[in-house]
Amino acid sequence: MSETKTALVTGANKGIGYAIAAGLGALGHRVGVGARDEGRRETAVRKLRAAGVDAFGVALDVTSDASVAEAADLVERQAGRLDVLVNNAGISGEMGPDWVQDPTTLDLGVVRTVVETNVLGVIRVTNAMLPLLRRSASPRVVNVSSAVASLTRQADPDIEIGPVMAAYSPSKTFLNAVTVQYARQFAGTNILVNAACPGLVATDFTGFHGPRTPEQGAATAIRLATLPDDGPTGSFAEDDGVIPW
Ligand code: NAP
Repeated sequence: MSETKTALVTGANKGIGYAIAAGLGALGHRVGVGARDEGRRETAVRKLRAAGVDAFGVALDVTSDASVAEAADLVERQAGRLDVLVNNAGISGEMGPDWVQDPTTLDLGVVRTVVETNVLGVIRVTNAMLPLLRRSASPRVVNVSSAVASLTRQADPDIEIGPVMAAYSPSKTFLNAVTVQYARQFAGTNILVNAACPGLVATDFTGFHGPRTPEQGAATAIRLATLPDDGPTGSFAEDDGVIPW
């Protein structure tokens, strides 16, 4: 089996996903740059290669069964297996004024769109990549979640957790719950599945507001993507350690 590990990062053309791809590449991984837009994907691949990363583009829209199946075929042709899957692609969904998603006026279409990408997209991609992950000696799956997924923090009036986000925040809670179910299903195997919180990062997603850089936001996902075999599974982590559910 080849020593070089292959990783696939979804939504890797920009922001935290790009930084995760760059970080895993710097650690010697071959990196599949999952991105739905051809131009943005090729630009990211070129940039990563210029930085010395062994990168290849993977056309990937996480909301499309056909696109995800083709992406799995491409990864199989390129690498024959997958060692690391980082489910990073995510959307906030339409926000109201002051970045609020008010539950009392929420358009159900927004909820559906957000869940389709942030939750069903992760299940779709993970299951399509699973046969390739099973060929790895130490498969790692990282789901990029958010601190706003934490019901413990959301329910504590003394914790500053930002505006009400009735579509986005529950979508990440749902993603965390799904992460735990995968971890339970893979209990006793070498497949570790964890959720990472990047913190508040200046990217397109936040209108470039936020104290953290994409590289800082990528750090926990990279750590969970490179865990030793006795590392945790079914955990929800940030820089400072574990986040309460
Ligand atoms: P970003 O700059 O907006 O990047 C999001 C990425 O996801 C883009 O590459 C985007 O591709 C991709 N994407 C969206 N829908 C997709 C789809 N259907 N198929 C494939 N790719 C898709 O946001 P970011 O801040 O880096 O966010 C990355 C992850 O971190 C998300 O899961 C987000 O929820 C999470 N997060 C971010 C923050 C933060 O403060 N920024 C905090 C907590 C959690 P396009 O370029 O084609 O749109």
